[in-house]
Amino acid sequence: MATKLKHQQQDSQAGGNVVALSRCTTQGCNKKTDLLTFCNEHYEWFKFGLINKKGERPTDFDKKFIAFQKHKKQAA
Ligand SMILES: [Zn+2]
Repeated sequence: MATKLKHQQQDSQAGGNVVALSRCTTQGCNKKTDLLTFCNEHYEWFKFGLINKKGERPTDFDKKFIAFQKHKKQAA
């Protein structure tokens, strides 16, 4: 009986545990993400200031992107 109950609970959890996946908001990227509004890659961009919260690029994106690439090389 106990085993059966446990089994039923697991079933209902699996069925009711629907996580609303959002998608990366970055232009040109449509990866699914369950983390904030960016995929892993673009979350790094956001942290580095390459994109804003909406996934939009600043006017000096190119300059920042070069700096970001240098930064990544140094970190690796
Ligand atoms: Zn992305």
